[in-house]
Amino acid sequence: MSDCLFCKIVSGQIKSEIVYSDDRAVAFRDIAPQAPVHLLIVPRKHIGSLNDLAEEDAGLAGHILLVAKKIAADQGVADSGYRIVVNCNKDAGQAVFHIHYHLLGGHCLAPLG
Ligand code: 5GP
Ligand code: ZN
Repeated sequence: MSDCLFCKIVSGQIKSEIVYSDDRAVAFRDIAPQAPVHLLIVPRKHIGSLNDLAEEDAGLAGHILLVAKKIAADQGVADSGYRIVVNCNKDAGQAVFHIHYHLLGGHCLAPLG
């Protein structure tokens, strides 16, 4: 998508601190980190939100979780712990409509709920 921020980061049109890249996914540091480790993992394919994920994307979604696991280890938070968050639509505060998985860690995260 030509006017999508994360498509532009994936294509290199907009600079970001990329920590991982493969043929299907890219991970980069969040510009406004909420934890010592705060990365965003995105598919190269433009998918607007979790609501737009299709059956045919099942392999891609699984791949992204495996990438998250690998990056957590690379970033040194696999043992201490981390959280994966996907915000979907307004009530969750989704601001960028290219699906992304937040990986947060590096300190004790507030309990959910
Ligand atoms: P959302 O609220 O949509 O789940 O999360 C969007 C995230 O993208 C936010 O955490 C925000 O800080 C991050 N973000 C917004 N613009 C940029 C940018 O230009 N570069 C990077 N690296 N992160 C961004
Ligand atoms: Zn996009």
